[in-house]
Amino acid sequence: MVQYTEVGKSNLIGTDAPRPQDKNPKGVDRIIAVASGKGGVGKSTVSSNLAVAMASKGLKVGLLDADVYGPSQPRMLGVSGRPSSPDGNTILPLRNHGVTLMSLGLMTSEEEAIVWRGPMLMGALQQMMNQVDWGRLDVLLVDLPPGTGDVQMTLSQKFFVAGAIVVSTPQDIALMDARKGIDMFKRMDVPLFGLVENMASFICDGCGKEHHPFGHGGARAEAEKLGAPFLGEIPLDLDIRIGSDGGVPIVVSKPDSPQAQAFQRLADQIIASEQYARAVQ
Ligand code: ADP
Repeated sequence: MVQYTEVGKSNLIGTDAPRPQDKNPKGVDRIIAVASGKGGVGKSTVSSNLAVAMASKGLKVGLLDADVYGPSQPRMLGVSGRPSSPDGNTILPLRNHGVTLMSLGLMTSEEEAIVWRGPMLMGALQQMMNQVDWGRLDVLLVDLPPGTGDVQMTLSQKFFVAGAIVVSTPQDIALMDARKGIDMFKRMDVPLFGLVENMASFICDGCGKEHHPFGHGGARAEAEKLGAPFLGEIPLDLDIRIGSDGGVPIVVSKPDSPQAQAFQRLADQIIASEQYARAVQ
């Protein structure tokens, strides 16, 4: 099998040397993990807005909702209906806002709890990665469950993850768990794109002043301490909440708003990063 054709890599032409991305689902160039230490910090909101922002830049983007305990991406991207499998083997994902989506939430009802042990979760992740017909993707974002469990480990070990984005709110209690997530990725040899501070500030409708209900600057300070990039702040904002919970992310509903621009800047930083370029050799 011919592996490389570029000048300078000719020593590898004709060899069977595997490339790291050969571990990825067919057609998928890069896998980017979106993680958090705690639940409820806005990891899924960041994932969906980032996916839509990347797609708006002309990239082919997939989103795998691997938050098996609370799959919320079908709602956040306004997708419903069961994915079909015409051949009984490959699953055809659904699409909205320019993003290809697969989620366990599409296979279960919104009220149904997923009561599974580790091996079942690991199997489900691998199935959703490998048995879904993703088509050709520049990026597959994986919205992970919070914490450092089986799903995170399986993703890091079985696939080639280009890097992880860790989302946290600014307060110590969330950052404490975010730190554990970062440590886990380090141990699994997954590079870190950086930290995002969500719910960083709030502009009051009444007085117009900026408030910081969860503190301010905690994730930036933590990133500095870890020598990791700080990827920016996303405000706590009613329109972000309405967009996420209503199936039209703010990047689509109000693309010119400062909030949507914050997600666009996040996408720009990821695309311009060394890890992003390095993932495809
Ligand atoms: P996680 O994936 O970390 O559990 P979610 O993305 O599901 O968190 O967010 C939890 C709730 O907070 C959702 O209702 C979402 O709409 C809301 N939310 C997330 N980020 C923001 C934000 N920046 N401003 C306002 N609401 C937000």
